[in-house]
Amino acid sequence: MTKITNFSTALIHSGRHKRVTQGSVNPVVQRASSLIFDNLADKKQATINRAKGGLFYGRRGTLTHFALQEAMCELEGGAGCYLFPCGAAAVSNSLLAFVRTGDHILMTGAAYEPTQDFCNKTLKNFGVETSYYDPLCGEQIAQLVRPNTKVLFLESPSSLTFEVPDIPSIVKSVRSINPDIVVMIDNTWSGGLLFNALQYDIDISIQAGTKYLVGHSDVMIGTAVANARCWDQLRENAYLMGQMVDADSAYMTARGLRTLAVRLKQHEQNGIAVANWLAQQPMVKAVYHPALASCPGHEYFKRDFNGSSGLFSFELQQKLSQTQLEAFMNNFKLFSMAYSWGGYESLILFNQPEEIAKIRPNIDRTLSGTLIRVHIGLENVDDLIADLDAGFARLTSTD
Ligand SMILES: *Cc1c(COP(=O)(O)O)cnc(C)c1O
Repeated sequence: MTKITNFSTALIHSGRHKRVTQGSVNPVVQRASSLIFDNLADKKQATINRAKGGLFYGRRGTLTHFALQEAMCELEGGAGCYLFPCGAAAVSNSLLAFVRTGDHILMTGAAYEPTQDFCNKTLKNFGVETSYYDPLCGEQIAQLVRPNTKVLFLESPSSLTFEVPDIPSIVKSVRSINPDIVVMIDNTWSGGLLFNALQYDIDISIQAGTKYLVGHSDVMIGTAVANARCWDQLRENAYLMGQMVDADSAYMTARGLRTLAVRLKQHEQNGIAVANWLAQQPMVKAVYHPALASCPGHEYFKRDFNGSSGLFSFELQQKLSQTQLEAFMNNFKLFSMAYSWGGYESLILFNQPEEIAKIRPNIDRTLSGTLIRVHIGLENVDDLIADLDAGFARLTSTD
């Protein structure tokens, strides 16, 4: 296990060369479409370096983007980092860059729902087929590899249900059949620090930077850090798709990075405290937090991750009625009801068991109770527990 503090120095210093800071602490916000060439020789040189961090045209990035890209490469150990306008764009463009008509994708059956939709709708229309695997299948994934399989897509832990796959075993099995398959992971939960994807023979680590990288719930961005084998193809395809972010969002993301390790540490500490408390509540059937033994795949989490973040779920003993849901969900003082997560604040959402079943292709584990997903923020943990406790009390007095 790598200590998260091992990243602290890189988080503070990466991407802060004089070229991009121009003497201030932070990179400059260089807003530009046109970038001016001084003379013909300068224009020629800029053309040669246009995909290598040289200033060429706004769509290729400015100093602000280069600072963030360099920091992300250093943190995740990649050859290049592409910046996308949101996490969903990072996922869809990473997939799109490596498949063509007739190809096949192996996708976790517990993937973030829009990722599944992109495969089932958009890619299907282009004649790309997707099979879903149980994230707990381990080496049995070998049975699903086909001659036309081009991409293995992982997500760890799973969205909503938080299973942790045995990634080394899955990747090894797939590569032993075809070493050229491109392996990518939605690594958002780990902020890139808690799971060092590229050290696990994964080619591309994708993040919804919207979540922990930004950390303040006020910017949307996606990142994809690729190894040398996949970088050029990813970059060229995303560029042709017109993918880019504005300089202000890149700036805010680089700023978020500086506190990523300390925020994650506190999310972890608060999250584990709340998870342990929840595990003792009579209305809770099971807590799906990767750091707790009750989470499927907990042993792989312990082996492969550097720690946990603040997002997890728990299943209630019963399926809540509409009245109960209203009593429980509508009256929290600290937990807001909202999509997204990864900011400094606590959030809560729910899913009924049948809703989960619908977005779990080829997985036959089913839930019986309502699933509550929480993002544990940086508040005082006793206050968060009191807020949840009051929620359970409201349930007790509602039928
Ligand atoms: C939020 C999220 C995304 C999508 O990110 P956006 O920035 O909202 O487009 C992708 N994957 C996971 C796991 C997410 O939580």
